[in-house]
Amino acid sequence: MVAARKLDPVVDRIWVVLAEVPDPEIPAVSLVDLGIVRAVEADRVTITPTYTGCPANEVIRTDIRAALDAAGFAAVAIETALSPPWTTDWITPEGREKLRAYGIAPPLEAGERAVVCPRCGSTETAEVSRFGSTPCKAQWRCGACMEPFDLFKCH
Ligand SMILES: [Zn+2]
Repeated sequence: MVAARKLDPVVDRIWVVLAEVPDPEIPAVSLVDLGIVRAVEADRVTITPTYTGCPANEVIRTDIRAALDAAGFAAVAIETALSPPWTTDWITPEGREKLRAYGIAPPLEAGERAVVCPRCGSTETAEVSRFGSTPCKAQWRCGACMEPFDLFKCH
């Protein structure tokens, strides 16, 4: 056993399996992209739900279980950590890019003041409805290209 070894091959393989599990509401991004997978060890995966009461949370757990089982990791446990709570800051840069490519504006980052239209990049945007097609999205419209789009909010 080499203590200094950075990547445990088993842990590495579990990450690869999890990176292929799509978010149930936005299949364009994986649970790893969203930062829902918090930690991976050889015998357990720790996840943090996006927000309490989100109906997707149960689906997420079931989907991870199925993916682990299918990849031969039936003995790996799934643990839920509620603290510290998940925030949209946990979405990876790659996840934000995938959301944008899918036509969903990623949540504002610290220092950002305006929601950017995922289609044309304009900041002339306005909220149409706080409630989009799912509880995790709000409906917005761009004043430049006039296209409606979803903003990922989840809180
Ligand atoms: Zn636009």
